[in-house]
Amino acid sequence: MTAEPILHVVPTIDLEAAEAAAADLLVALGADLEDEGLRDTPRRVAKAYAELLTPKPFNPTTFPNDEGYDELVLVRDIPFHSLCMHHMLPFHGVAHVAYLPGDRIMGLSKLARVVELFARDLQVQERLTRQVADWLQTNLAPKGVGVVVEAEHLCMSLRGVQKAGSRTVTSALHGLVREDPRTRQEFLALTTLKETR
Ligand code: ZN
Repeated sequence: MTAEPILHVVPTIDLEAAEAAAADLLVALGADLEDEGLRDTPRRVAKAYAELLTPKPFNPTTFPNDEGYDELVLVRDIPFHSLCMHHMLPFHGVAHVAYLPGDRIMGLSKLARVVELFARDLQVQERLTRQVADWLQTNLAPKGVGVVVEAEHLCMSLRGVQKAGSRTVTSALHGLVREDPRTRQEFLALTTLKETR
């Protein structure tokens, strides 16, 4: 596999246009923008969305695996929030990210940064999960990768389709975490997911 680094495309955000559009949306929803509490809302909405959709850049430093560590490295319960691309409402929860080291290892905090890199986007949970796994596979070239994301989607819990607090679980596995039954089992046990047979 050729390791083309995935450069995350940062969206071009036109704050002024977003503010005007937010004002239009509010008016269309029956809001009175002359109301003192709403006067500054279009600007705040535009700013808030811009922040939620701008990934924080980070330097994905890797180190040689001098110790030859060959067990799973797992960071559990990485909190994240994202925006569902279908409703522009938040979904939030935790990600569990694991890799089986190859020649390189990565700082543990960087695993959380990778989640954040892809969470700050108009997203679908399945896509977010796969992007984090693919990014690690490409940039770290480990022997395996496992990513599990558990999230509550406000577009589901607020709109009464499902009960509040229900969580959606998605996973993406690569390499030995996918193919080797023992490693796969270990990963799923560590993320407390039960292998269904
Ligand atoms: Zn949605």
